Formats: sequence, structure tokens, C-alpha cells
Amino acid sequence: MAQRYPLSLVWLRRDLRLDDNVALRRAAEASEWIACAFVLDPPLLRGPRVGPPIVQFFFDSLGVLRERLRQQGSDLALLEGDFSGELVRLARRIDARAVFYNVDYDPDAVARDEGVERALRAAGLDVHAQTDHVYFGARDVLQESGKPYTVYTPYRRRWNARFDAEPHPPVASERAAGPKLLARDAIGATCEVPRPEDYGHASSERYPRGGSAQAKSLLRAFLTDEIDTYAERRNAPALDGTSHLSPHLRAGTIGIRTLVHTAAKRAAAARGASRTGIDTWTGELVWRDFYQQLLVHFPRVAHQPFVEAATAIAYERDERRWNAWRDGTTGYPIVDAAMIQLNTTGWMHNRLRMIVASFYTKHLLGDYRDGERYFERHLADADLAANNGGWQWSSSTGTDAAPYFRVFNPTLQGEKFDPDGAFVRAMIPALVKVPSMYVHQPWTLPPLLQAEYGCVIGRDYPAPIVDHAEARKRAIDVYGAALGRR
Ligand code: FAD
Repeated sequence: MAQRYPLSLVWLRRDLRLDDNVALRRAAEASEWIACAFVLDPPLLRGPRVGPPIVQFFFDSLGVLRERLRQQGSDLALLEGDFSGELVRLARRIDARAVFYNVDYDPDAVARDEGVERALRAAGLDVHAQTDHVYFGARDVLQESGKPYTVYTPYRRRWNARFDAEPHPPVASERAAGPKLLARDAIGATCEVPRPEDYGHASSERYPRGGSAQAKSLLRAFLTDEIDTYAERRNAPALDGTSHLSPHLRAGTIGIRTLVHTAAKRAAAARGASRTGIDTWTGELVWRDFYQQLLVHFPRVAHQPFVEAATAIAYERDERRWNAWRDGTTGYPIVDAAMIQLNTTGWMHNRLRMIVASFYTKHLLGDYRDGERYFERHLADADLAANNGGWQWSSSTGTDAAPYFRVFNPTLQGEKFDPDGAFVRAMIPALVKVPSMYVHQPWTLPPLLQAEYGCVIGRDYPAPIVDHAEARKRAIDVYGAALGRR
């Protein structure tokens, strides 16, 4: 793109980084000067779709980004209020002629951005939207017929073929933009980075920390210690063998191209199990693209099951069961430990997300949307596409989902993926002394031993809220009535 703007704004949203940022790179190519802006939206920040961990993560990341810009003599123009009004006011004040931003596939964001674009254009600004958040855009990986994929395996095959034919390496946006960043004085006064408490959220030392430097350090640690053994270790919550990069991918403190290409370079030099580990991890990044493109082609999934027959599932909303699931007091250690991990750290291991989602929707017959909303407010990585995809997969209502008659047995899941009980003991003090053979079914401990190990059922730890065999049968009946004859 020829240099046609004396000054452009880069409107940052879920891309809180300078490196490998497509909008920033395009703005640098097209402009003599650049200013970076972020708009705080009070109704969103105080509303039901965000919770403390993600708000804290975004504020952390904004602080780190601002520091980085200040080190280069510039600043982050941090605004608060109505998106188009704030951006137009800033553009007028500094005489910017164009706005560059990276697209967000969340249907609410799409609707909002259409309105913002209209208002910016009406104010005489050019607007350029870029694909950045996903490796391949929603229309880049389609079937021969032009239809979107709704099954992951063929999607991944096609994704791989496109990757081989047309890779998108990381973009050197920081290098291109650095010399063009508008001076701090010229940007003028902007808001301070807020605290979560300013919008009614309690902060916690235990939530994931934001910022690009933190993302890079997690990636380095994962490459050093985990990626080669990822295929074997990723399902064991006590081993912590995954990258923990999800909140960073959500806020965009690291670019997806950087991750895919780091993994590809490593895979090219790897053999055997190590190669399998890297390919499996890359496959998870492709799942992320897969769910993102589903949201674009089937935006109804944000509110409705993908499988239409699933609208007939007779869910039950029982406050006692809901509270037990939410608070981690179901009496099934792996479910409870998982919910405690979520409630206290703002993150949950993938295997555990599948277990608690299956338990809520199948054992307790809860509507997956209630669980999805709860995750949305308690995860630092809360992301509509992945969260909805995960819940619809677990509850058998989604595309390429678990079959409805698959009902995880929480005891066996615990015994398989946390065999010595290290994870559940770390989360639930009452289980600390319980021997491994009982730790995932403490209610089977003889009463004398319950007293000896400090885990008296009904006093120190709850009895199971439902019987597994009965709950399984009930779930298969109820789900089968809606989905069984499709
Ligand atoms: P790693 O194992 O290191 O994987 C690397 C990256 O790949 C992740 O950071 C993530 O961006 C992506 N990824 C991994 N697994 C998946 C997946 N199944 N679907 C889509 N992307 C994936 N992920 C979110 O980012 N936000 C959510 O709100 C979310 N909600 C979920 C809800 C349920 C019920 C389930 C079953 C899964 C959900 N996931 C969600 C997917 C997955 O659990 C997390 O991405 C993963 O646990 C994050 O940990 P990590 O970064 O260490 O992952």
C-alpha cells in the first residue's frame, strides 16, 4: 500500500501487542505517522459478559503495552466511552486521516464494528479492517464446494494444505511502526490504566498475568519443558503440561502466526514422539481457528445449539445442583477440584473443562448455556468461539460433538488423568490424607478410615450429589429423546 496518510490511528482491541500485528503493520506501510488507541467501554466492563480475571488480564496488558510505547517516546491513547465518538474526537485532535484495526469474529463485535465503521467514514476517516486474530480467515479454508467445514478433521487437512501452499509468517510490525510512532506530547492527555475495582471487579494475585513479555516467557518455558511431551502429558492436570497461553491469545498479547511458525520450525527439526507433541499442539491452534470460523458461518451458535434437534432437550434447572457444581461441592473430587481451580485462578485445564461440562450437562441435566455463561465470567481466556465450541462439544449439541450417549464417568476420569490424586489433593484439603485408591471416590472409604484420614463424608467432604449410574441412564434417556432419532 502506498504511503497515503500523514497520520493514522491503530485501534487496538483484542490484539494488545506491537509485534506480529497485521493492522499495525498495514498502518505503518500506509502512513507517515501512527498513534495507537484503545477504547474502554464501561457498559461492557460492568456488564454480564466479562468477569474479574479477564478484566484484570486486559488491564495488565494495557499497562505493559503503554510502557512499551512510552519507552519508544510514544504513548497508548487510552480513551473511555462510546467507540466511534472517542475515536473521531482523537482523530480530529491529532489530525489522523485513517483508522486501521483487526477484525473480531464475535457476532456482537461484528455488529458494533459495522456501526463504528459507518460513523468513522461519516466523519471523513478511511477505515481498514485486517485479519489478524486467526491464522487463516473464516473464508480462507473452505470445502471445494465453497461451503464451510463443520467437521474438524477435514478442516485441519485443508488448513495444513493451505499452510504448506501459502504460509503467513509473523509480520514485523514493531520494526516497521517503531520509527513512525507519534510522540507522547502530540497524543496529549489520555486516561490512566484503570484497576479492575474501578469497574466493580476484585483483582487477585492468582489470576494469570497479562502483557507480551509474560506471553513470550510462557512460550519459552513451554518450548523448553513441555512441547515435546505435549501429546502424552497434556491430559494430566497435575503435570501442567500445556502452554497456558490461552489468555494471551484471547487478549492478543502474542500473535497466532508467531506461535504457528515457532511450532512449525521446531517440528521441521523434530522426530518421533517429539514431532507428535508439536503436531498435537499445532492441532489445538487449528481447533481455535476452526471454532472461530464456525462463529462467522453460523453466528446462531452464539445463542442456539448447532444441532437444531438439540433445542428439544429437556434441561432441568435445579438451584441446589447448580450451586454444588458452581462451588465445587458435588462430591466428585475431579469435578470439584476443577471448579475450585476455575474459581480461584481464572483458568482451568482443558481435560477438566471437558469433565465439568459433561458433568453439568449430562449428570445434572443443566443447559449448556448456563455453564458457558459461568465460564465466560470466570475465565481469563473467556472467548465466545472456543467456549461455545467446548460447551457444545461436551453437551453433544455442537458440530462434530461428543455423541449424546457419551457420559464421562467422573470417577474413572479422575483415576485415569490424576492417578495418584495429586491434583485433587492440591485443591481440596479434605482429601490430603486420603489414600490414592479412594481419592476419586472417597465415599467408598469405610467409616473408620474416613475418621482416620480426616475425610468424613457429609462433614469434611460432601456425598456425591447424584449416583453416576442413575445419572448416566437419565442423561441418555433425556438426550436420546431429542437426538436419538436424528
Ligand atoms: P494449550 O494446550 O497449550 O493449547 C494452545 C492453544 O490452543 C490454547 O491456548 C488455545 O488458544 C488453543 N486451544 C487449545 N484447545 C482448544 C480447544 N479445544 N478449542 C479451541 N482452542 C483451543 N479456550 C479458550 O481459549 N477460551 C475459552 O473460553 C474456552 N472455553 C472452553 C470451554 C470448554 C467447555 C472446553 C471443553 C474447552 C474450552 N476452551 C477454551 C479450550 C481449551 O480448554 C483451552 O484453550 C485450553 O485449556 C487453554 O490452555 P492452554 O493455553 O494451556 O492450552
